[in-house]
Amino acid sequence: MSDLYELLDVPRSASEDDLKRAYRRKAREHHPDAGGDADTFKAVTHAYQVLSDPQRRSRYDRFGDDGTSNGRASAGDPFGFGAGGFGGIDDVIDAFFGQSAGFRSGGAGRGRRQQPGRDVLVVVELTLEEVVTGVARDVEVDVPRACETCAGSGAADGSGPTGCTTCGGAGQVQRVVRTAFGQLATAAPCEACRGTGRTVGDPCTDCAGEGRRQTSRTLRVDIPAGLEDDDRIPVRGEGEAGRQGAPPGDLYVQIRVAEHEVFERDGRTLAAEVTVSVSQAALGTTLTVPTVDGEDVEVPVPAGTQPGDVLTVRRAGVPMRGGGRRGDMALVVRVEVPTGLDGHQRALLTELAEARGEELDARGRGPLSRLRDAFQR
Ligand SMILES: [Zn+2]
Ligand SMILES: [Zn+2]
Repeated sequence: MSDLYELLDVPRSASEDDLKRAYRRKAREHHPDAGGDADTFKAVTHAYQVLSDPQRRSRYDRFGDDGTSNGRASAGDPFGFGAGGFGGIDDVIDAFFGQSAGFRSGGAGRGRRQQPGRDVLVVVELTLEEVVTGVARDVEVDVPRACETCAGSGAADGSGPTGCTTCGGAGQVQRVVRTAFGQLATAAPCEACRGTGRTVGDPCTDCAGEGRRQTSRTLRVDIPAGLEDDDRIPVRGEGEAGRQGAPPGDLYVQIRVAEHEVFERDGRTLAAEVTVSVSQAALGTTLTVPTVDGEDVEVPVPAGTQPGDVLTVRRAGVPMRGGGRRGDMALVVRVEVPTGLDGHQRALLTELAEARGEELDARGRGPLSRLRDAFQR
C-alpha cells in the first residue's frame, strides 16, 4: 500500500488547503476521462478522502490505518467510483470543490485541455557538511523530453496536433449498450487520440508522433543550506515533457541527509560528545574541537564540570533554511575515570582522597556498612 501523502505528493505537514490543491491537480491528471489511469485515480481520491478528514488523518498518522483492508477502496465510496465506472471529471471537481475548475471542454473545435507531462522525483544524498554550506549538485534525469526533430509537436511538418476527428476533439466517445432495462449510454476514452482530443496528421518518425523522446540529461541544481530529510526543491518544467506539445511536468529534488560520524543533528543544533579526564573536569581545561566546517575552536571546560554537562559553541551549527543565522554546536561532556594507574599515580590519588576525607580501604567491614558509607556522601 502506497503512502497516502506520497500519492498526493504533499509533505506530512500539509494543510487542508495544500491537500485540496494537490488533490485537485492529481484528479485532473489521473481522471480516466483525461486519459489517466483508473486505479491511480481511485488511489489518489482515496488518499484525499482519508487525509481531508481530520479524524481519519490522525488515525492514519498514528497507526498507518487508512480505513481499508487488503488495499481496496472502502465500501462507503461517496462518489460511486467503485460501482459503475467513474463520474465525469467535472462532477468530481464539483463534488469536492463546489465548482468546476475550468476543465469543462470548450466545444469540439477547441478540444480538451492537454494533459501535462508528469512530475519527476529525484533523490539526492547530502553530507552534513553540504547541508551547512549549501551546494550545487549535478542531477541525472532520465525522462521523456520534447523531440527536437518536430519541436515537440509530434507532426513531421511541425504543424502540431489538430482536433481528433474520431471523437470531435472531446477525448471520449459515447457507446450505447443495450441492457434488459433499455439502452444505456456510456462514455469511454477515445482510442484514436488516447483521450487527449488531439491527433497529428503526419507523425514525426523520430518520436512516432509522441512529440517527446526518452532523454538523459544532467542538470545542475542549487541546493540551499539548512535543508532536512525529505525537503523537496522544485525545478519547474524539468519533469516529463507532455505529449505533442502539452506543457511539461516539474522536477522535484528530494533531500536525504547522510549520517555523520561525529555530529548528531537536532534542527539547527549539532551535538557531539567530548571526553575529559577526571583531573581536567575537576580543575578545568581548554579543549580544541573541530567544527563541522573543519575549523578548530577552543572550548573552555570550567573547573568542576560534571559528566553530562553541555558546552555550547555559538553559531557552529546548521544555518536556517536557505542560509542565515546558524544554530549552535552542543558538546556533551564524558568524564573518563583513569585505569591502569602506576604506583606514583596511585599514591597521588590516595593523597587526594585522604585530604578530602574520603574512605578508601573498606577491608574488615561488612558489606552493609560499606553501602551506608556510599549513601552518606
Ligand atoms: Zn518528433
Ligand atoms: Zn479522439
